[in-house]
Amino acid sequence: MNYFVFLPASEARNLQDNRRSVYKSDYIDIRLRKNKMSDGENELEEQLEKTTLDDDSGEEEEENEDEYDYDLIVIGGGSGGLACAKEAVANGAKVACLDYVKPTPLGTKWGIGGTCVNVGCIPKKLMHQASLLGESIHEATAYGWEIPNKEAIKPKWENLVQAVQNHIKSVNWVTRVDLRDKKVEYINGAGSFKDPHTVVAKMKNGSERTLTGRNVVIAVGGRPRYPDIPGAVEYGITSDDLFSLDKEPGKTLVVGAGYIGLECAGFLKGLGYDATVMVRSIVLRGFDQQMANMVADSMVERGIPFLHKTIPKSVEKTQDGRLLVKYVNTETQEEGSDVYDTVLWAIGRKGLVDDLNLGAAGIEVKADKIAVNEAEQTNVPHIFAVGDIIHGRPELTPVAIHAGRLLARRLFGGSKQIMDYTDVATTVFSPLEYACVGMAEEDAIQKFGEDNIEVFHGFYKPTEFFIPQKSVRYCYVKAVAERSGDQKVLGLHYLGPVAGEVIQGFAAAVKSGLTMKILLNTVGIHPTTAEEFTRLAITKRSGLDPTPASCCS
Ligand code: FAD
Repeated sequence: MNYFVFLPASEARNLQDNRRSVYKSDYIDIRLRKNKMSDGENELEEQLEKTTLDDDSGEEEEENEDEYDYDLIVIGGGSGGLACAKEAVANGAKVACLDYVKPTPLGTKWGIGGTCVNVGCIPKKLMHQASLLGESIHEATAYGWEIPNKEAIKPKWENLVQAVQNHIKSVNWVTRVDLRDKKVEYINGAGSFKDPHTVVAKMKNGSERTLTGRNVVIAVGGRPRYPDIPGAVEYGITSDDLFSLDKEPGKTLVVGAGYIGLECAGFLKGLGYDATVMVRSIVLRGFDQQMANMVADSMVERGIPFLHKTIPKSVEKTQDGRLLVKYVNTETQEEGSDVYDTVLWAIGRKGLVDDLNLGAAGIEVKADKIAVNEAEQTNVPHIFAVGDIIHGRPELTPVAIHAGRLLARRLFGGSKQIMDYTDVATTVFSPLEYACVGMAEEDAIQKFGEDNIEVFHGFYKPTEFFIPQKSVRYCYVKAVAERSGDQKVLGLHYLGPVAGEVIQGFAAAVKSGLTMKILLNTVGIHPTTAEEFTRLAITKRSGLDPTPASCCS
């Protein structure tokens, strides 16, 4: 079978380089075309529909004498749904996977792959990288690079967006081909229940298709919330719009201090736009609060102001097309206002349960999420949920993927392994990154009592920060451990460069029962920042100064 796909030149070259390893059996004719962004339309998706996937119509449908059309219907083609669908097929199941993206109020839409690929982890990390690169250019002169007119160097938002979107489109394409290769039937339609075994897929053109499944997995994820204030939906945007915004964001108010809000404010500032963070209550709820406050302080140090204990009251358009935001301090009741070019809502995400007609299947909903047991099973035994839509579990891509895969293996591969949601490592890609695994200090104190835990900590100076004289004030590591015996490590926290890369390996150690005895007996790799964990000699209880004396002793 030949596939024809039109891709931007850079992505096409990537695919050409990789195609033999990625696509074993099929030949892909990649035709270069000039880079051109479409206004919100996902051209690649349409191209795919026209050129390749209609080929399916000619293929012979397998006879299915079963009582149901499919062994498994997956509703939602994001991280969790796709992983589950592919693993189910690998274990011999007949699978259909539905995916449909409702456009944002601004009209933004995207292709298959879910939040992570299209409007989450991937574009976020790329924009974070773009912002770090800007920093590096400015540091380079300290290292001897001669950069004429350094101050004139700035990013072009439209080019950045185009590069990011080109990458996303190539991932959309690879995902579609992968589903086809793996024999997952992809249906670009919105799924809802007709009864516990029947799902109706509503297609883009309004037509409907009815499918029956022995099992159903709900993996519909969530979408950003908008506040209930005048002008919020009309004038504000969310992370769903930001990564494809066709004009530069300018001076931006980010409302919300969860990780998404901080990350967006961080890279916008790094790209040269004024960014302010409005915080209703606390920063990075759910994270270690000492570390969370240090993240916020490190952002303030970089010129990102925080409006604490403040909520927005309204957004209005000014005569010159900017946005007037009125707000109030919830402690002092003092009112204030300012004018911005962009208002970004990052006040949390809502599970997409409303359009699923869950009542027809009798599925219980808990605070716009789905309640499941430890085997991701809902109250209806043959209906399961994975990913962000599950109530009370971490909303992270690798969590959704792992849970989806394990579920498929249990359903079709005879496995008994259930997902372990403890000690999941994560990173906040704030300009100075924060990563952690395991318990927050306050959670450990609450669970074991202050007398029974020991907190080791230390500030450190990354070698690469010396020459450009970057601030090391917030470079800090902390280990929370049991106080007795070999001191089992309960949590590790790291604030500094490449935090995710540092913590990923330690996460495996923590999962394997790492103790402080082992950690402090581990020989570090010098000079790295990760080695700071092996040099954690000072406890908070000792009251000793945790600032470093020298880098090499
Ligand atoms: P999703 O990926 O959201 O996929 C659900 C899919 O189902 C979507 O395509 C949706 O449109 C579709 N759908 C919804 N309803 C229906 C229906 N009725 N019928 C058919 N299809 C439907 N996680 C990390 O691990 N690391 C990060 O750095 C990170 N950064 C993030 C940054 C941002 C800005 C955001 C928003 C999220 C980030 N996340 C990150 C979270 C991560 O994206 C999610 O945890 C992950 O995508 C959840 O996967 P999922 O399969 O549960 O849902």
